[in-house]
Amino acid sequence: MNPVHARYPFLASARESVREADIGLAAIVTGEERHAAVERGVERVRRALIDGTVRPDPDDQRRWDTRAELLSYPVARVLVSLVDAPGAVEKYASAEADTAYEQFTADFENPDDGLKSTTDDSISLAALLAEFDLSGAVRETIEGDGYRIAVGEYLPLSSNLDDDSWTLATRQLADGTVKISEDELHDLLREAVRQRVSAGLPTEVPDAIREGLTDEVAELEDTFSEIDISRSIDVIAPEAFPPCVESLMERAQDGEDLSAPAEFALVSFLASANADTDELLALCGVDSDTRAKSVRYRANRVGDESGAQYAPPSCETMAAYGECPVADDEDPTADARCETISHPLAYYEDALAEAEKSN
Ligand code: SF4
Repeated sequence: MNPVHARYPFLASARESVREADIGLAAIVTGEERHAAVERGVERVRRALIDGTVRPDPDDQRRWDTRAELLSYPVARVLVSLVDAPGAVEKYASAEADTAYEQFTADFENPDDGLKSTTDDSISLAALLAEFDLSGAVRETIEGDGYRIAVGEYLPLSSNLDDDSWTLATRQLADGTVKISEDELHDLLREAVRQRVSAGLPTEVPDAIREGLTDEVAELEDTFSEIDISRSIDVIAPEAFPPCVESLMERAQDGEDLSAPAEFALVSFLASANADTDELLALCGVDSDTRAKSVRYRANRVGDESGAQYAPPSCETMAAYGECPVADDEDPTADARCETISHPLAYYEDALAEAEKSN
């Protein structure tokens, strides 16, 4: 199996290699022992819905081989079709797309053969454009300051992107093409991945496979119900934020470039507290257009119109990321309320209730 398929399992050639290997999903999920692909498939969905990424858990010592990684993708698609969690399909597709985006932008920056072809474990821009039938529709500008994309391909890829800068009225149109920057081309490719992943989801699941995954679906639903803390928080009161969020906010406001999980934790916490975009940008100390774009993108991805949204990570996950000041081995912060809760939102809810009582 080609390692690039494990990193980009939504590629048509990855699907083909699963077909060629003739590995039936039923055989994988109904085996006596839990197959590594099922184990990783469960992790893929859990991480997607809780953390907004499908990367393996950094604290998990296990290493998934190419086969388990590749096969975990069809398993995850089935699992996400079966779990009862608000917005599961949308969150899952966004997490797959965000993870692919991190990987392909890194691959583009460090091409390992310079031949514009897909090598063993990385993908080139040319190969990704070809994957989405965009080779003939995208070309570099003569000036070398970006790209032009045919408007017919631009519209379906940009219509779902919220920022006003994607509307056609704000774009330079010429000869049926739209001018875009390199970063914007990458954003459109991320959207192409998201659309590819969400196509056909939720999928019809045959009874034998549904039965084979009963335990895994229950395990995932248990995890989500644990974090379904509150839908009623609708006040922004920074003085009641838990130490972890306070610290992330201060660091962001000081201009620190937070890691992706840390930024996700901060943005999803603030979005859960119903911060609107302006409040969110202010609390994250955003002062440049590039960072505003990234924070806005994340904010749009952590919530959807139905109100379903990613819960921020639990205390356990925050500690695993090294983002819980109370669990800091070298310099722990003492906080009595932290001893009584297992989720930053529960801390906030509790602190708000106490403040209300004393008023
Ligand atoms: S215990 Fe939980 S709420 Fe308290 S600082 Fe750590 S992660 Fe935040």
